[in-house]
Amino acid sequence: MSKIIIAVDGYSSTGKSTIAKALAKELGYIYVDTGAMYRAVALHALKKGYIGVEGLQKEALIDSLSAVELRFEKQETTGAVEMHLNQENVEQEIRGLQVSNYVSEVAAIPEVRRFLVEQQQQMGSAKGIVMDGRDIGTVVFPEAELKLFVTASPEVRAKRRFQEMKAKGQEVTYDQVLQNILKRDHLDTTRTVSPLKKAVDAIEIDNSKMSEQEQFDKILKLVQDCLKAEKEDPR
Ligand code: C5P
Repeated sequence: MSKIIIAVDGYSSTGKSTIAKALAKELGYIYVDTGAMYRAVALHALKKGYIGVEGLQKEALIDSLSAVELRFEKQETTGAVEMHLNQENVEQEIRGLQVSNYVSEVAAIPEVRRFLVEQQQQMGSAKGIVMDGRDIGTVVFPEAELKLFVTASPEVRAKRRFQEMKAKGQEVTYDQVLQNILKRDHLDTTRTVSPLKKAVDAIEIDNSKMSEQEQFDKILKLVQDCLKAEKEDPR
């Protein structure tokens, strides 16, 4: 059976990664969370002291990119795929509010995007991949066979994310999470390089009122239709 590329784009905390992971598992495809890559670069900038009271030192960060090695590693015990930055497992650290507060600024730097997009394109060169992010259907894989654009209201997203962070024992308030989401929406949609926008040929999924199961069934049907069309008329 021919393999396809599935691009899952959308706003922060819409559950893109849950959808993408479940699809990859169902299809036996590789799953790539590109947000984790931008988060790891933001963490690198924080660790190196390139983010401080004077803001972000872009030039220093750009110059240090060649020393940034990113790898997704599967954990033996849980089977979960976790982000490693220069051989260190940073999965927990990249999900915290500090990284969340700076990641969109880091992701707006063209050189950072070029550095990561190149790696993402390599990961998908053999197809059979589900990749989630903001620019997968527009920039990374404009030729992807299936493109999804996931949305939900900011309040619904903040509530889900807040519960998730609380469950992990992180010290946050609902309001901090909502403000972070609104700020990232603004930065992600208004940046000059690769702003978050729906690709013309993407299918929009608003999951504000959908259960995870309903959403999964709907998307799986789209995938099956796409695979059928590919079989009948391969690109
Ligand atoms: O997906 P996640 O919320 O973890 O992504 C973190 C941030 O990384 C986003 O808010 C966005 O600024 C940036 N990002 C991006 N392009 C991607 C994936 C993430 O700009 N493909």
